[in-house]
Amino acid sequence: MIVLLASRNAHKAREFSELLPDLRFISWPDEAPDIPEHGAFFQDNALQKATFAWEWWCIHGTEPIDGVLADDSGLCVDALWGGPGVLSARFAPDLSDYADKNRRLLSMLPPGASRTARFVCVLAFVPREGHPWTVSGAVEGRLAEEPRGDRGFGYDPIFIPEGFHETFGELSSLVKHGLSHRGRAARALWERLRSGSR
Ligand code: IMP
Repeated sequence: MIVLLASRNAHKAREFSELLPDLRFISWPDEAPDIPEHGAFFQDNALQKATFAWEWWCIHGTEPIDGVLADDSGLCVDALWGGPGVLSARFAPDLSDYADKNRRLLSMLPPGASRTARFVCVLAFVPREGHPWTVSGAVEGRLAEEPRGDRGFGYDPIFIPEGFHETFGELSSLVKHGLSHRGRAARALWERLRSGSR
């Protein structure tokens, strides 16, 4: 299946090519507009991104595709009322580097606060025929005392998945994919594509 990935995030693109090796991904073209995300929930944003990309491709696309995949994801920290959540990509816009964003996020936790958190991922798929649909995945965990590890991306160095001592920044991508929000959502997506249900 040929699938347009509605994302400019190279880290997500790499994870999807590892998680869904049977799909052939087309990346979002450089000349295409930025993909809007104005929703209050992961599901709204994932659907908005996928349908926007589908409509754009219908006009500007250069080859036939079987569908469009979009990911909306983020880190939800209990002590920050679930934030940054859907705003994870827009957290601390004054800082460009994730090492600094991660330190800022940790510094925002009140002393003694719960460190529980979860990564959430909603994937939206617009098929060539039929209605758009979504699947989701989440992984529970806690925030580290300080960033650790240089694997992965974004908030990986401060997130310790349940049952582990290492952060996602320290664990291999194979281990991360087995546990992660995106790994779980991608397996649900693949099951649905494979079974042919719309
Ligand atoms: P969006 O889905 O484009 O709104 O961006 C999601 C943001 O959440 C990313 O830019 C990262 O900051 C963060 N994020 C989502 N998934 C992961 C992950 O697997 N590891 C680390 N950070 C993530």
